[in-house]
Amino acid sequence: MSADRPRDADVAVVGLGTMGSMAAWRLAEAGADVIGFEQYGVAHDRGAAGGESRLFRAAYHEGSEYVPMLRRAREMWVELTRTSGRPLFTPTGCLSIGLPDTEPMRNVRASVEEHGLEHETLDPDALAHRFPQHAPAAGEIGILDTAGGMLRPELAVLTAAERARAAGARLLERTPVLALEPENDGVTVVTAERTWRARRAVVTTGPWVRELVPSAEVTPKPIVLTWFAPIDARAYRPEVFPAFIRDTDGHHLFGCPVMDGVSVKAGVADVWPPLPDARALTRDLPENALAPVTHSVERFLPGLHPSPIRHEVHLDGYTTDRTALVGPVPGTPQVIVLCGFSGHGFKMAPVFGSIAADLALHGGTGFDIVRMDPARFTPGAGAARPAAPVPPKR
Ligand SMILES: Cc1cc2nc3c(=O)[nH]c(=O)nc-3n(C[C@H](O)[C@H](O)[C@H](O)COP(=O)(O)OP(=O)(O)OC[C@H]3O[C@@H](n4cnc5c(N)ncnc54)[C@H](O)[C@@H]3O)c2cc1C
Repeated sequence: MSADRPRDADVAVVGLGTMGSMAAWRLAEAGADVIGFEQYGVAHDRGAAGGESRLFRAAYHEGSEYVPMLRRAREMWVELTRTSGRPLFTPTGCLSIGLPDTEPMRNVRASVEEHGLEHETLDPDALAHRFPQHAPAAGEIGILDTAGGMLRPELAVLTAAERARAAGARLLERTPVLALEPENDGVTVVTAERTWRARRAVVTTGPWVRELVPSAEVTPKPIVLTWFAPIDARAYRPEVFPAFIRDTDGHHLFGCPVMDGVSVKAGVADVWPPLPDARALTRDLPENALAPVTHSVERFLPGLHPSPIRHEVHLDGYTTDRTALVGPVPGTPQVIVLCGFSGHGFKMAPVFGSIAADLALHGGTGFDIVRMDPARFTPGAGAARPAAPVPPKR
C-alpha cells in the first residue's frame, strides 16, 4: 500500500457491536474523523449485544477493582438514558445471593465496603421474607446493590451508533473487514470493495477477533438466554423483583424482572462449551440443552413455569482469566484492540468507548487498565508500547 495515498480517516473502528459503537461515538465526539465498519447491520443479533436485557451491577462478583469503572459507567448510562429519552437503563437494583464465604460474595462485600456503595445486606430470614421469589438455601445471604439495574443492549448500540453519526462518523454496515495491514504510521483496512487508510485502528470485533488479530487469546463461547412465564407476573415487576445473580451449589443463575409484561429472563452460565470459531455458531440447540437451566429454575425460582417459553443463543469472546484485552496489539501500537469481555462487559461499554478514544487519540487513558494489557498472553512482548497521540482534525 502506497504511503503517500491520502488518509481516509483518523481512526477506523472495526466491528460496530457493543464496544465499537461506543468507541465510534466517543471518538467522533472527541473531534476525530472516524470511519466504522460492521459486517452485519448495526444492532444485529448474532454477536454479544443481543437478548433484550443486560444486568448492571456495581457490587462486583468479578472483583472490587472494577468499581471505579462501574461507577463512571453508571453515570454515563444514566446520562445517555436522559439525553436520548430512551429506556436504556432501568434502576431496579441488583441482588446477589450466595453463601457469605464464597469468592463472588466476598468480592461483592469488598466492593461495597471498600468503595462505600449503597447496599442492603439481607440475612437468610430477611432474604426469604423480602424476596420470596427466590427459594432459600441454607445459610445463603443477599446483598442488594441499589446502584444495579437493567440495560437494553440493542437500543444502546443503536443509540451510540446514532450519536457517532450525528458527530460526523461514517459508519459502513454490511461491510466486513477482510484484513488489517499495519504500516509505519497507520493502518490499511481491507474490505471487498476497496481499501481504506487510517492513522489508527480500533478493533472491536468481539468473538470474531482472532480473524483479524490472531494473537488475541479469545475463545468464542455461546451464552443461551431463556425466558420463563411467571405464575403471577405481578411478583416479578421491576419495582419488586430486582435483577439478580446467584451462585449456589455450582449453579450460576442470573436474570431480570418482567420487561415485556409476560416473561422473566433467567439464564445459567458456564454450561455450553466454547466454539472453534465464531462462525460455527448454531441456534439449533441439541435435545436436552436447556435441561440445566430448567433444573436451576425449578429449584431456585419456584414461581416460574420451569419450561422456557423462548430462548436465544448469543456469543461472547472469553479469555482464560475472564479479564478483557484492552490496549495496543503487541508489536503494533497503531492497532488498539478491545475484546474478550468474557460475559460481563456490557455494563461498562460506555467507559470502554471512552478508553478506546483515549488510547487511539492520546496513547493512554486515566482508567486503570493495566490488568487488561493484551501483552499478558504474548510471551516476550513486554509492556505495551502506546502509539503517539493523533491530533484531532476538528
Ligand atoms: C447472552 C449474553 C448475556 C450477557 N449478559 C451480560 C450482562 O448481563 N451484563 C454484562 O455486563 N455483560 C453481559 N454479557 C457480556 C457482554 O454483552 C459482552 O461482553 C459485550 O457485549 C461484548 O461486546 P463486543 O463489542 O466485544 O462484541 P460484539 O457486541 O459482538 O461486537 C462485535 C462486532 O464486531 C462485528 N464484526 C466481527 N468481525 C467483523 C469484521 N471482520 N468486520 C466488520 N465487523 C465485524 C460483529 O458483527 C459485531 O457486531 C452478556 C453476553 C451475552 C452473549
